[in-house]
Amino acid sequence: AKAAGRNNYQFFAAEMNQSAAERLNIEGKLRHAIARNELSLVFQPQFSAPGVEPTGVEALLRWHHPTDGLISPARFIPIAEETGLIVDIGDWVLSTACQEMARWIKAGLKPMRMAVNVSARQLRRRDFCETVANALITSGLQPELLELEITESSVMENPQEAILILERLGRMGVTLAIDDFGTGYSSLAYLKLFPIDHLKIDRSFVADIEHDLNDRAIAFGTIALAHSLGLRVIAEGVETEDQLELLRSNACDEVQGYLFSKPLNSAAAFAFLHAKQRA
Ligand code: C2E
Ligand code: CA
Ligand code: CA
Ligand code: CA
Repeated sequence: AKAAGRNNYQFFAAEMNQSAAERLNIEGKLRHAIARNELSLVFQPQFSAPGVEPTGVEALLRWHHPTDGLISPARFIPIAEETGLIVDIGDWVLSTACQEMARWIKAGLKPMRMAVNVSARQLRRRDFCETVANALITSGLQPELLELEITESSVMENPQEAILILERLGRMGVTLAIDDFGTGYSSLAYLKLFPIDHLKIDRSFVADIEHDLNDRAIAFGTIALAHSLGLRVIAEGVETEDQLELLRSNACDEVQGYLFSKPLNSAAAFAFLHAKQRA
């Protein structure tokens, strides 16, 4: 038993070292990613649930490393957050996303929402509101068209502080969404105090909504709660007609997912949205 224990320990230590090495490796490469033009954005359309009209897009970050290929956000965003690299990367995302929507509108797109993910680390920066203001001024995008997606867990880290920041952002005219709703712990009392516009139901509750009664209860309960607080609900990760029908018949306001479109590069997103709006 002792030997087995030691083997387990060695195995565990090796695994830890490997992941530490991998993190270090990613961190080193990520430091140069912006300057080397390795980052890009893709855009996933969002739709009104009843009419299936596009209401906006969510900007999602992609990292193409010249030798490692595409590195998924699930792998590098947590490292970017821990090392603080997310601050520069996040600024780049914000300004690029605003510029893209402003450009699409100039090219004839009906103005619609550009939703951008913001990490806890960015939100805590004293100059975050200035960063947002700069992105808007430089691009010329109307503040009402920018939505910031903030995860439930990042606002709950320090709700008192979050309220002040979100209020400042709200006064600037940008809209706010609570992302990954249901995966963290929210106090309903706080939720009522946040000046937010949207709740996003996490994909993990939508994936099994047809079969898992608990997930269904959470999704439908979230919609009812949100509506009673005057918020609109976006369900993410909608992949099937049955999921859409369940959400639609329970008054979900907006939907996003592979059923409608995968995330698209800028040119494809513009063409997709432009075609939908003409139809
Ligand atoms: P998220 O904000 O919850 O974004 C939704 C994720 O679900 C995206 O993964 C999207 O591509 C994927 N998705 C959308 N529809 C479907 C569907 O129907 N089925 C399935 N299976 N997946 C779907 P992605 O692009 O890999 O991003 C993962 C996470 O990385 C995001 O989760 C977000 O937390 C983070 N992230 C992405 N871009 C940024 C960014 O610019 N800044 C920050 N801070 N985080 C970002
Ligand atoms: Ca999001
Ligand atoms: Ca999510
Ligand atoms: Ca998220």
